[in-house]
Amino acid sequence: MPMNAQGRPSAPDAVEHIEIPTISGDRGLDHEEPLIFELGRECVTGVDIPQVQISDERLGNLRRRAPIGLPGLSEPEVVRHYVRLSRMNYAIDAGLYPLGSCTMKHNPRLNEKMARLPGFGDVHPLQPQQTVQGAFALISDLMRWLTTLTGMPAVAMWPKAGAHGELCGLLTIRAALEARGEKRTRVLVPSSAHGTNPATAALAGFTVDEVPATDDGHVDADALEAKLGPDVAAIMLTNPNTCGLFEPRIKEMADAVHKVGGYFYCDGANFNAIAGRVRPGDLGVDAMHINLHKTFSTPHGGGGPGAGPVVLSAALAPYAPLPLLVHDGNELRLLEDRDAMPSGAQPFGRMCAFQGQMGMFVRALSYMLSHGADGIRQASEDAVLSANYILASLKDTMSAPFGDGPCMHEALFDDTFLHDTGVTTLDFAKAMIDEGYHPMTMYFPLVVHGAMLIEPTESESKESLDRFIHVLRALAEEAKAGKRERFEGAPRLAPRRRLDETAAARKPILRWRPAELPQAAE
Ligand SMILES: *Cc1c(COP(=O)(O)O)cnc(C)c1O
Repeated sequence: MPMNAQGRPSAPDAVEHIEIPTISGDRGLDHEEPLIFELGRECVTGVDIPQVQISDERLGNLRRRAPIGLPGLSEPEVVRHYVRLSRMNYAIDAGLYPLGSCTMKHNPRLNEKMARLPGFGDVHPLQPQQTVQGAFALISDLMRWLTTLTGMPAVAMWPKAGAHGELCGLLTIRAALEARGEKRTRVLVPSSAHGTNPATAALAGFTVDEVPATDDGHVDADALEAKLGPDVAAIMLTNPNTCGLFEPRIKEMADAVHKVGGYFYCDGANFNAIAGRVRPGDLGVDAMHINLHKTFSTPHGGGGPGAGPVVLSAALAPYAPLPLLVHDGNELRLLEDRDAMPSGAQPFGRMCAFQGQMGMFVRALSYMLSHGADGIRQASEDAVLSANYILASLKDTMSAPFGDGPCMHEALFDDTFLHDTGVTTLDFAKAMIDEGYHPMTMYFPLVVHGAMLIEPTESESKESLDRFIHVLRALAEEAKAGKRERFEGAPRLAPRRRLDETAAARKPILRWRPAELPQAAE
């Protein structure tokens, strides 16, 4: 097989599996594409740049001695390169994206149009405050939507992702405890929690104490109460939880934590299931991040961009991070100076250099205004309906550990149905790629074996769900019938075959070097 300079196959292996291998290595409209460094030639350029006179004296020994080594390509070559790469990609705009916990929903184009309006798109964080009153008004409106939807009195807008919001929430809790003169060290985290929850608690200086799940996929409320004591700073619960189930005893758990003086942090990543129907404030939540990029649209593949505002209860509101956005007469103003705080405010510090993710705020508010309160509620209901349709349609063929009752916005399966077939959850997910689907979330949550977590969201039509169900059902039946070939080594039809994902994550090679230099992992 031809290898590129990084030791990766430079032609799709799949060519071997079709009957007529092509001469070019391309397959119809699927083009093979090397790295841009392999394509480029140093003698070529797409732009004419005037020769610059560089004075040695001014650069001293920093003057570059060798050519910079950037690939030289003409404009059409660059355009083709990126278009070809984009065609190897999977996106919600290309097909159903069932990744559980991630809420991969349609991003209305209206959002993009609004975010690109020059008054929002070109705003600079160092502009004088009088010149960005419109942007502040937008943030202020979004704050009102978030506090209204959650039934919470305050919100810190600035965290830049869900995990950043978790950190903001726990730092707020830590500040509140310090103000009470208490040193509490323990944070209770259920075994079904997203990995960011225990990581955040540890980063904020707490020790993590795991709460087990019951056999029906809920947090074990009795085990939780048994763990409560005067050293408990907080619990971190996800609701609906990561098994896709609403926690029926959530109010009881919140009360118990409050009784011992702790706070209730809710991971709000699953808010899409309940927005417009349940107000977390009514459940006793003290702090909850909202992944604007999940619940209120915005494309979020590849790690960004995102925004994770944190709504806060009255008990935590005084400790919200800087800056504070306040109405001052006819003006909106950012208060940044700790010495000039309104009475009672004791911000714990800052979460980021400036004022959060403006583009995300515009998209989220566009989404809210275009849906309206009733539309947001309808979106949640439809997301739950879609997930239940999948659960009900597949639970006789695949195995649903908690499939007796309805689920919320995601359907959880385990690998019991693959028992003795020699096919694993990973094989099953990779076979979905050959069928034109992005895999579901795999091996999370950890509380079930070989988990497959499917979140269709409200974006899909019944026809689209039926087609997806048909494919999964057929794949499950093939696995059970012992047809392992389809699964072994899948995907076969993707631009790349199965990758060593552990090595890719642990030893990524992030910098290109010419083939003659050693290829160190960096
Ligand atoms: C996505 C997610 C997070 C983290 O959010 P990011 O925006 O990716 O940082 C935390 N908890 C749960 C349950 C999630 O699904």
